[in-house]
Amino acid sequence: MKTIILAALTALLPFSSPAVAQDDETATWSIAIHGGAGTLDPDAMTPERRAAYEAALQRALDAGKAVLASGGSAMDAVKAAVVLLEDIPLFNAGRGSVYTWDETIEMDASIMDGRDRSAGAVTGVTTIKNPILLADKVRTDSPHVFLMGQGAEQFASEQGLETAPPDYFATEGRRESLNRLKAEQMSAIEVDYKFGTVGAVAMDQNGDIAAATSTGGMTGKRWGRIGDSPVIGAGTYADNRSCAVSATGWGEYFIRVGVAHEICTRIRLERHGADDASVRPVSADRAQAIADAVMAEVKELGGDGGVILVTPDGQALYSFNTTGMYRGRATSGGVNEVAIFAEGDVQ
Ligand code: ASP
Repeated sequence: MKTIILAALTALLPFSSPAVAQDDETATWSIAIHGGAGTLDPDAMTPERRAAYEAALQRALDAGKAVLASGGSAMDAVKAAVVLLEDIPLFNAGRGSVYTWDETIEMDASIMDGRDRSAGAVTGVTTIKNPILLADKVRTDSPHVFLMGQGAEQFASEQGLETAPPDYFATEGRRESLNRLKAEQMSAIEVDYKFGTVGAVAMDQNGDIAAATSTGGMTGKRWGRIGDSPVIGAGTYADNRSCAVSATGWGEYFIRVGVAHEICTRIRLERHGADDASVRPVSADRAQAIADAVMAEVKELGGDGGVILVTPDGQALYSFNTTGMYRGRATSGGVNEVAIFAEGDVQ
């Protein structure tokens, strides 16, 4: 009966982008990853560069898949995928992070466990090799949720986290972007045709979900600017009752919309209604429509970017309002996709 009601409701409700909805009702685990969204032009990318991005995304997806397929937790899967992406200089997180106006590299990260909604986040760290691991330590080993700058570094040192010198994070391409931004008085959006933040969301074989996001922020950021990525509820959110979300895009708008929490709340209200005890699964199309509607709000305010999400019903989805998003997803049902542009390149 519930299924009939749900089908009737779903038919009445508008949804967009069904092409990217993945309805794998038998999935016992699922994962989605991203390496940023933005104005991506297929003609401007060489085949070699494209292959390098696709291989990097597949490696990160494989790292998460291996954890989930062997019965590991969603939390360990998202960490494995994000650590790998932080180590690859193609992406704007860890090694390869963008430069601030003052020519430093200041990284942000956050992580959340859907089982108990425990969360950890750091902002403005400069020496931590894998900021996502520090965010996780904040979650598990501190009484706090969000640490900044020097205090976060001090906590990292007490926890024995691996550090690296400034040269490790630096890349020529990111420096050129900053130089161009200054010389031509451009905005970060103009100079960076894409956002390169990385993230992962996963559901494990217990039905538990988790989300993680890591970034260098936006090129030329000033005055201690903090984007959405380390802000729980904006760039990252996970709640077993609703979904796990990791975002990438123009952070100011994602904070204003509260993107990750907003998507999860809308899904939770549909899955649980007013009564938290009963659960009504949300279809892939419906979850897609909810994510698309929240991304449309970001667009209305003037922002752009994208999100990845998984639901406790095993759906792994993307939604973005840009021409491309470095992304991938996989499920126990055999789905394995890596894609960059908006349409027609899903492998
Ligand atoms: N969301 C990030 C920020 O605003 C940028 C990105 O997604 O690349 O800091």
